[in-house]
Amino acid sequence: MSAREGSLEAPTRHPIDWQNPDFYSVESAMKEMERVFDICHGCRRCVSLCNAFPVLFDLVDESPTMEVDGVPKEMYWKVVDQCYLCDVCYMTKCPYVPPHPWNLDFPHLMLRAKAIQFKQGTATKFRDTNLSSTDRNGKLATIPVVVQFVNATAKMPAVRNIMESQLGVHKTAWLPEFASKKFRPNAAVSPAVPVQDGQRTKGKVAIFSTCYVNYNEPGIGHDLLKVLAHNNIPYVIVEKEACCGMPKLELGDLESVAALKEKNIPSLAKLAREGYSILTPIPSCTLMFKQELPLMFPNDADVQAVKAAMMDPFEYLVSRQKDGLLKTDFKSPLGKVSYHIPCHSRVQNVGQKTREMLEMVPETQVTTVERCSGHAGTWGVKKEFHEISLKIGKPVFRQMSDAEPDYISSDCQLAGHHIEQGIEQLKKDQPKSSTKLAHPITLVRKAYGLPE
Ligand code: SF4
Ligand code: SF4
Repeated sequence: MSAREGSLEAPTRHPIDWQNPDFYSVESAMKEMERVFDICHGCRRCVSLCNAFPVLFDLVDESPTMEVDGVPKEMYWKVVDQCYLCDVCYMTKCPYVPPHPWNLDFPHLMLRAKAIQFKQGTATKFRDTNLSSTDRNGKLATIPVVVQFVNATAKMPAVRNIMESQLGVHKTAWLPEFASKKFRPNAAVSPAVPVQDGQRTKGKVAIFSTCYVNYNEPGIGHDLLKVLAHNNIPYVIVEKEACCGMPKLELGDLESVAALKEKNIPSLAKLAREGYSILTPIPSCTLMFKQELPLMFPNDADVQAVKAAMMDPFEYLVSRQKDGLLKTDFKSPLGKVSYHIPCHSRVQNVGQKTREMLEMVPETQVTTVERCSGHAGTWGVKKEFHEISLKIGKPVFRQMSDAEPDYISSDCQLAGHHIEQGIEQLKKDQPKSSTKLAHPITLVRKAYGLPE
């Protein structure tokens, strides 16, 4: 195969051909994996990104031919299992992505392989399906009385041992608690202020709260609403909301992704057409609507309308500032903030908007760490991957704690907790530090001097 090194044109992404029966053909997927793995073996740029590439290169180096043709095809699944679809190899490293003639899309090839695995059924299907049912789990666990029971038992070492042996959830992995009061039914009513459109921004927003904010950390959602209200931006809470589908996508369960899309897209498309910007406070959920659903449903006008209206909250707030419509009357300095930009924020290609916003706060020093934390949704809590996820995250834990910050912060609050756990392990022999974990929108609320 010969082609020029890298592409000079902007990357494009092909739709995910998930409704074509050939997508699920093991033979055809193996052939494509052999082609792509061979290119990666010759390139090896991505070796430090995650564990998928080291596993691939070890398989090649230990094979009799020391080439991809020496690796038995059944071993390819080992590589697939290590990929958590962060998209960083595609978006930040690979010079062979389309329109380059080598047409390499490593994450979506791994997605195809995961979809095949899911259809075939795996030994961990029960655990994986349960972990990825965030909406159902949240609804069940937040029933009054049940919530206290769930939170209390999830901390008991004996229960965690059983969860590890029976459910495959690592016994020391950080697990989110469930909130006694969900976000959506308790969201404050928007201030009745006039809509003020800017050159770059719509003057009214809709909030897709996400399962995590609704069931686990509603405070993040309340803080976002306080920041919007402070800036006289009227908002609505999306009327009907189900999981965005990202946990199901990461499992390769594309039929469930399609079913969730049917639940979410009609009301979101209506809001998009009514002129709302739609904000989601979890980057993976934003990415789902901005990228994965549009690639799965390229001809669906409603999905494309939602894509156009969907924004990361900080992308919106910084654009608002450029429009001259954001208040900068910050009252409380934040001190030293170690900020982690998660993979699913990086690959949205909107720049470091959260860092820009935090740096607007006087007497605030922001250290930015742009590297995978290793948490990766549900991947990092699984028994077989948790230790690897801590290893992947180690450089992040080091860099973030070396700054001796007042706060550690990540747009992905799950990554934030994983980083907090990683730092605690790194510093287990040192006196407990006063560093606190806080989501960036919580930091902005604090900086404005707005009460909790
Ligand atoms: S998508 Fe992320 S996890 Fe998967 S191979 Fe690429 S860098 Fe690794
Ligand atoms: S994904 Fe692209 S950049 Fe990464 S190892 Fe493969 S060919 Fe190289």
